[in-house]
Amino acid sequence: MIGLDNSNKNQRVQIHYSFMNIMTGSDLSRRRLPLMSAASPNPGPVVWLTACGHGDEVGGIVVIQEIFRGIRRRLLCGSVHAFPLMNPPGFEAGSRHITMSREDLNRSFPGNPRGSLGERMADRIFNTILEAAPTLVLDLHNDWIESIPFVLVDRNPGDLHQEPYKKTIQIGREAGLCIILDTEEINKSLSFNLLLRDIPSLTLELGKSHVVSESNVFYGVEAIWNILAYLGMIEPRENSFGYPLPPEYGSGNLLRYSDKPYGSRTGIIRFLVKPGSTVKKGQPLAKIVNAFGRQQEMVTALHDAIVLGHSDSSAAFPGTPIMAFGIGDSIFPKMP
Ligand SMILES: [Zn+2]
Repeated sequence: MIGLDNSNKNQRVQIHYSFMNIMTGSDLSRRRLPLMSAASPNPGPVVWLTACGHGDEVGGIVVIQEIFRGIRRRLLCGSVHAFPLMNPPGFEAGSRHITMSREDLNRSFPGNPRGSLGERMADRIFNTILEAAPTLVLDLHNDWIESIPFVLVDRNPGDLHQEPYKKTIQIGREAGLCIILDTEEINKSLSFNLLLRDIPSLTLELGKSHVVSESNVFYGVEAIWNILAYLGMIEPRENSFGYPLPPEYGSGNLLRYSDKPYGSRTGIIRFLVKPGSTVKKGQPLAKIVNAFGRQQEMVTALHDAIVLGHSDSSAAFPGTPIMAFGIGDSIFPKMP
């Protein structure tokens, strides 16, 4: 491990806060993205942290603030850079999207300097990250209000990108959280586009959108310290963080994401299992009742799984997700 001589001012970790212009508002105000960086004089990995690309997913901002609170003292080598608030208009409006046009920043990458507002913002963010030639990018999100924290790995980016993809999974296993392989085909997220540029990239879904949840901030901060320790950027941890999980769904086992089954009736959802609990195939998950309380449908588990979270709404409609699950290796073969 590389030692640091704190007696020499020039050898200290340098913290720098700045801004990146993104747009001029209708009132001619300049809108900017805050930018944070901490650099050790000792060479090492370059890690980027990004948060609040979805404006209503606010916990990641505070996770980054907490990491920077400790980084001056802890960083042994390399550098950590962050965009703590990528979508200020969405944040201020309490919305996932950027403006009323409902553009989704995390569906706008790699961006376009002459495209829509979202594509222009994505282009600036993406190129700024690429310029630093990062070892790893961690994008912080907050899933459904009632959900456990988990690492989300993008679907396989293809044969040409297997090295960064394997590294991504290897690093994801160090976070101490449930690790979930996405099954949705999302092509324009930040993390997927970084993988296409051969940069390991993970999403941390830290649960509880809309407000800062202190418990989920703790999980996010601890997961990041785990990863920075694994990369040798901070001292090895005496006690690595691990979110309490049943062994078959923890221990770095790669699970697959599923939000099925969907309900087939309109009504009111009564959830019967909690996020973090395990379910067996055929087990009742939720019942859908009508306005008089009469049961319309019982939704049951398609597989043995761990419940990641449940819907933010108790209004059921045919074809809308009710819960999200992590499904284990007994259903899906082992990944790299
Ligand atoms: Zn999100």
